[in-house]
Amino acid sequence: MKQPTIFSKIVNGEIPCDKLFEDNNCLAFNDIAPQAPVHYLVIPKKPIISLLSCIEEDQNLLGHLLLVGKNIAIDKNLKSWRTVINTGEESGQTIFHLHIHFLSGKIMKWPPG
Ligand code: 5GP
Repeated sequence: MKQPTIFSKIVNGEIPCDKLFEDNNCLAFNDIAPQAPVHYLVIPKKPIISLLSCIEEDQNLLGHLLLVGKNIAIDKNLKSWRTVINTGEESGQTIFHLHIHFLSGKIMKWPPG
């Protein structure tokens, strides 16, 4: 059996987080090592490994995660932000539980490194 990830432990309350939002399907919390003045993550409670593992039935959930992240951005009065989903080790994914990064509060460079 696969080991639970840190994010599964956050979902089940074993590890604390700086929570911004929670409902039956998702959780949003501040990143422990922020890469911008604002940096939070939105994750599904369902332990999906990555975007690669998503299936048709995850369609509504994926949209929900984006809208939850957008609503938090509005609550924070953000006008501009970057949304990132790393998929696979070479992209920089380090936690193998799907998560959407929301970053804001600084000038972002493009292309990303
Ligand atoms: P990835 O590199 O997989 O796209 O992003 C994983 C993110 O999770 C990183 O930005 C990292 O700082 C964050 N992270 C790792 N462990 C923890 C933790 O225990 N709590 C929180 N809040 N964030 C974490």
